[in-house]
Amino acid sequence: ASAPKTHAFEADVAKLLHLMVHSVYSDKDVFLRELISNAADACEKLRYEAIADPALLAVDPQPRITLTLDAAQNRLSVEDNGIGMSADELAEALGTIARSGTRAFMDRVAAASGEGAQLIGQFGVGFYSAFMVAGRVEVVSRRAGSAAAARWSSDGQGTYEIDAVDLDAAPARGTRVVLHLLPDAARYAERGVVERIVRTQSGHVPVPIVLRETPEAEPEEIADGAALWTRPKAEIDADAYTDFYHGLSGQFDTPALTLHYRAEGRQEYSVLAFVPGMKPFDLLDTGRDGRMKLYVRRVFITDDADLLPAYLRFVRGLVDSADLPLNVSREMIQESPMLGAIRKGVTGRVLGELEKLAGADAPAYEAVWENFGPVLKEGLYEDRERRESLLGLARFRTTASGGGWRGLKDYVADLKENQTAIYYALGSDLERIAASPQIEGFRARGVEVLLLPDHVDSFWVMSGLDYQGKPFKSVTQGAADLGLIPLPEGDAAAPGAAASAEVTDFIEFLKTELGASVADVRASDRLTESPVCLVAPDRGMDRQLEKILAGAGR
Ligand code: ADP
Ligand code: MG
Repeated sequence: ASAPKTHAFEADVAKLLHLMVHSVYSDKDVFLRELISNAADACEKLRYEAIADPALLAVDPQPRITLTLDAAQNRLSVEDNGIGMSADELAEALGTIARSGTRAFMDRVAAASGEGAQLIGQFGVGFYSAFMVAGRVEVVSRRAGSAAAARWSSDGQGTYEIDAVDLDAAPARGTRVVLHLLPDAARYAERGVVERIVRTQSGHVPVPIVLRETPEAEPEEIADGAALWTRPKAEIDADAYTDFYHGLSGQFDTPALTLHYRAEGRQEYSVLAFVPGMKPFDLLDTGRDGRMKLYVRRVFITDDADLLPAYLRFVRGLVDSADLPLNVSREMIQESPMLGAIRKGVTGRVLGELEKLAGADAPAYEAVWENFGPVLKEGLYEDRERRESLLGLARFRTTASGGGWRGLKDYVADLKENQTAIYYALGSDLERIAASPQIEGFRARGVEVLLLPDHVDSFWVMSGLDYQGKPFKSVTQGAADLGLIPLPEGDAAAPGAAASAEVTDFIEFLKTELGASVADVRASDRLTESPVCLVAPDRGMDRQLEKILAGAGR
């Protein structure tokens, strides 16, 4: 082999390396994901070139990624039998950034603006993340179909070297990336650590991954290269989906809903998502992250890309995009406009599937509502665009529902004569609301009242919603409506309270006694059993919301 030639990194690469190590990545484990992703890309490129030149794949045709640990030497290597690189390609791929506008881009990233952060995400710079864990990186490569091999080597400090190497020091085809681990990164030569990272980050890469515990050890497969969601639905049985869900969620229930489809058109992506069959303990915690993972071409990117709105945070699963760039940072991919379009599509689809389930299997849907209704209801005030759909999905305990659930469609179909609103009663538990004197007059007239016991209810009812033109109205607000709704035939007529002089005198007495602690005292048609109840003024804050806000110290 000839003497190595030393080259300076293109200025932008030097700058990028500095950024990479000091500010881009927050989690060092991702270097392995990037190297595995490059190895898988190399296998896919070879597969593509071999379409025109089958001889390239005549020997050792099965794509494979081999991880070799060498704890004694403090080394980790990632090897593939993919396309490989010539000496020139090594210099081009690993010494320069072959894109235009690079400088402007770098300047914006260095300014650390949110926009620059978004841009770096669109940039292929994953290889350099190896320098977060390695003091020296060697890349030995042999291009498919070539009779020469070359080595690239650098400490990431400003220069790199390239030299030719003997064929027996290189892979027969493809690339070996050898990391000389930094002292604080020695764990990356440990089997347990590496296996865990591969399982969580690259378990679904489309190329099998094998591991050798030492350079002499036999390789053992640690990932089989099959991604469940890329397989046709017809080939996947319920058990395979459930197993996958168990691995994904760490829960061992049977999912209530499994959603698997491929979106085509402007955005191409696959979705595999589950509505759990049971409620996780931290469901109501609004700080709880969404549990949808983002993949790009089967490479895991992040599990906090906000792929679904907060009110669908109980859905577990993944989106695998064919179009998004393989990102350098989890933080940065969130701002991508492509992701916004995916989020919209997936959200609509999840709600659509819930609607379908509600229509096809009411008990199954009601079980979902029982578990996740309090979270879904957050969408009523958070997602104006989908209110209609969410109101259609909502189920309630009502004065007419017995032990079951009622939807608003049924409620509206059963409106009483002259009834123009949907009435609700808020409270902290069902029994207490159902026993409240506030709803006596409604009961007497057979007017159905929604019983709303969840914390979230106080918020959505205040957001000015209506359903099929019928506003939501609290039973504690406004007394007038009931006078218009007739009592059923045969029931005693309303007492005609206002006409009696005794009642007028009594009201005057109460007003004097209670003074400024009440706004008004009125005779009412609403009560049939209780002598008296407190009501909120027509335009005032609802009493239940008032209590919650007082409790929150606001
Ligand atoms: P990206 O993968 O987004 O292009 P990287 O920084 O990860 O960016 O890699 C830079 C380039 O180096 C790749 O585009 C590819 O040309 C080359 N490369 C890296 N690793 C390999 C590999 N294992 N086999 C072949 N080429 C590779
Ligand atoms: Mg890459």
